[in-house]
Amino acid sequence: MQQYDYIIAGAGASGLSLAWKMLHSPLSEKKILILDQSLTPSNDKTWCFWDTETPPFANLIHRQWSKAEVSIFGKRAIKQLNNYTYYCLRSGDLSTHILDKLEKHPNFQLRKTPIQELSFNGSTPMLHTDAHTFKADYIFQSCFNPWEDAQDQPCHPLLQHFVGWEINTSKPTFDDGFFTLMDFDQTYKDGIAFIYILPWSKTSALIEYTIFSDNLLDKKQYEEKVSLYLSNRFDLTPIDYNIERKEFGKIPMEDRPHKPWYKPRILNIGTVGGLTKPSTGYTFKRIQKQTNAIVADLLSEGTLRPHPPSKKRFKAYDLWLLQIIDRYPEDAFKVFNHLLKNNSLDDVFRFLAEESSLKDDLKIMSSVPYTPFLRAIWKTRNRLRKI
Ligand SMILES: Cc1cc2nc3c(=O)[nH]c(=O)nc-3n(C[C@H](O)[C@H](O)[C@H](O)COP(=O)(O)OP(=O)(O)OC[C@H]3O[C@@H](n4cnc5c(N)ncnc54)[C@H](O)[C@@H]3O)c2cc1C
Repeated sequence: MQQYDYIIAGAGASGLSLAWKMLHSPLSEKKILILDQSLTPSNDKTWCFWDTETPPFANLIHRQWSKAEVSIFGKRAIKQLNNYTYYCLRSGDLSTHILDKLEKHPNFQLRKTPIQELSFNGSTPMLHTDAHTFKADYIFQSCFNPWEDAQDQPCHPLLQHFVGWEINTSKPTFDDGFFTLMDFDQTYKDGIAFIYILPWSKTSALIEYTIFSDNLLDKKQYEEKVSLYLSNRFDLTPIDYNIERKEFGKIPMEDRPHKPWYKPRILNIGTVGGLTKPSTGYTFKRIQKQTNAIVADLLSEGTLRPHPPSKKRFKAYDLWLLQIIDRYPEDAFKVFNHLLKNNSLDDVFRFLAEESSLKDDLKIMSSVPYTPFLRAIWKTRNRLRKI
């Protein structure tokens, strides 16, 4: 049985971010194993986030914007970002860069193999593949959902689900000076649905149809929405564009309490570590914060402490919003519209990044209809005690 200091199970956003941070710290002297079922970089995800400072992986940023378009009660508005910049990274670029550096380092070992199981034998965490078992002081895992066998079921089993097309057009079509954060589909009644556009240039963009609801659609249905939008908004027929790539996502909007440990000395990281912000699906920036905290803990004391991804009050706001989206989507639509209409985008982003003060939060709360929230506070009172 081979022994490592640390094992990183899963080389996606969280596993690679952690390996990268370790590589650039004194932890690079440790013996570290990274495993994934696939180590072939792929541009299957477009990771966006906002920041006030130099962003993580600054040299790999694909595009950035300081203006965003939103459609509020059916009217388009372009909002300026003064404090934040919205950044976009492509998963293939990040994986290629990090895997290349890890491969060249003698203390990091990469293995392409499916992981069957993670176990703890009373003193040591272990990782099992078909052919081998590996031991380590700590395992960091982003492969297995810790809620899978849990008795505790979500109160609001919502997902953020989407299909996006990356297209090239034969004529200049997009204004690449801003991205489209939310262009709501007012015809959709089973949840919140909107179009999200990341323009790479005047002739190239990623256009996604996104839904917050508990029911997935057939892929064809999302694609029809994208195609219809391209026709209605940009007057594009299928012969006017090439679909270069399709992106599909299904992100949990989890209302169950965060589970830091999969088993003793096996820490959950990334999405399975509860890092996805339930009400928005944004995860990438929170992964970077968790990564920094893990490395700081290992460097200072050598032992890990769980770091809850959110303060209690932000968990409560998320839970209330999930209740409204799940049970009263028309009210949720009004909440999103008032939120975007009555606040600057910097204020909205600060609030969603959980960087706002209580005073800021009260200002945001007073800008949206309060009846749905009073009802949500009452209806979620039992779940609230558990989070
Ligand atoms: C299409 C898409 C777009 C997204 N866009 C954004 C965005 O714009 N902004 C944002 O903040 N968040 C976004 N997210 C949410 C989140 O940031 C991503 O899902 C992110 O990849 C989560 O990182 P992770 O490490 O938890 O999981 P992953 O990146 O999925 O990594 C998990 C890794 O584990 C491996 N694995 C799983 N099971 C096994 C096994 N049994 N054996 C071996 N390997 C295994 C997988 O191959 C994978 O490489 C997006 C998600 C999706 C799906």
